[in-house]
Amino acid sequence: MKKKIFITRKPPEHVLNNLQKLFEVEIWNSEDIEIPRNELLHIIHKFDGLLCLLTESIDEELLDKGRNLKVISNLAVGYNNIHIEDAISRGIMVTNTPGVLTETTADLTFALMLAASRRLVEASHALREGKWKTWSPMFMTGMDVHGSTLGIIGLGEIGAAVARRAKGFNMKLMYYSRSRKPEFEAELDIEYADLHTLLQTSDYVCILTPFTKDTKNLITMNELKLMKNTAVLINTARGGIVNEFDLIQALSDGVIWGAGLDVYEHEPLPLDHPLLQFPNVVTLPHIGSASIQTRTKMWELAAKNITLALQGKTPPNLVSRLK
Ligand code: NAP
Repeated sequence: MKKKIFITRKPPEHVLNNLQKLFEVEIWNSEDIEIPRNELLHIIHKFDGLLCLLTESIDEELLDKGRNLKVISNLAVGYNNIHIEDAISRGIMVTNTPGVLTETTADLTFALMLAASRRLVEASHALREGKWKTWSPMFMTGMDVHGSTLGIIGLGEIGAAVARRAKGFNMKLMYYSRSRKPEFEAELDIEYADLHTLLQTSDYVCILTPFTKDTKNLITMNELKLMKNTAVLINTARGGIVNEFDLIQALSDGVIWGAGLDVYEHEPLPLDHPLLQFPNVVTLPHIGSASIQTRTKMWELAAKNITLALQGKTPPNLVSRLK
């Protein structure tokens, strides 16, 4: 009898076809509407495998109901939506999609840095609103990226890919991470610093750690106050690493110069959210890995992970280390 899997969003045709050859597959047949929590809770007992997104909270309640689950394949590199220790203690394999999204997310992180520093979104709006009256010396002036100092918090795959891009802009590089990265220090001429020093020295601070109990509220008002008032904060990692209440206060008080954000404490961001009031904040709807090529590769990798796990093999992206 074929094993059963459930996919919480509509996958590309070729991914679905391949999975259907091997498994009995049910899907939540929508690309842009989440499966209601109650629906997932109601049906999950039927399945051996779950291919899910970061929009699904895979917590104790869901794991209790999913008594037949053998694998949870997450369509993301971050897996803070899954109660990982609980899943592992029940013998459920958890997989993610690292690597295939590294360069695309680094592109977006760099784009956010350029957009926030050179006021691209604000300037485009100004033109469309008829505010461009003449070439004016100080109209829409921003901050230089080239030659400035970039501080990366969390020098992993994406952090290093951002650093490689920054070298092309002749930026001075520094990082703070959980562990020293001698291989990246040698490759990138990037200097290790404690968090305090990095925040005080950097013109741009990019956050690229996972969201864990250790990184929750890593950046609060105390840390924001250490930053230069000309500095820009970029967060393409996860909301919750930056305390949003404090960030809003810091932006209101001119503690930092601007921000570029792709992720938020609660997603999607409601339209009346205070962060949307700041012209010096570029706000994106969690599109870090959103290129057609990369999202397709993520689906393919998530499908490979669930397939191998249910065939009794070790999937390539088994999350074995608790972060
Ligand atoms: P990665 O290779 O695992 O890198 C994460 C880095 O953060 C590692 O160097 C890790 O150190 C470090 N770190 C972990 N905990 C830390 C702590 N408490 N303090 C300081 N540094 C810490 O992961 P990645 O592929 O670069 O992805 C990073 C994160 O980006 C993901 O977890 C995900 O949440 C986010 N992301 C967002 C998007 C988006 O759409 N916006 C797309 C992709 C990824 P160790 O080497 O010691 O573990």
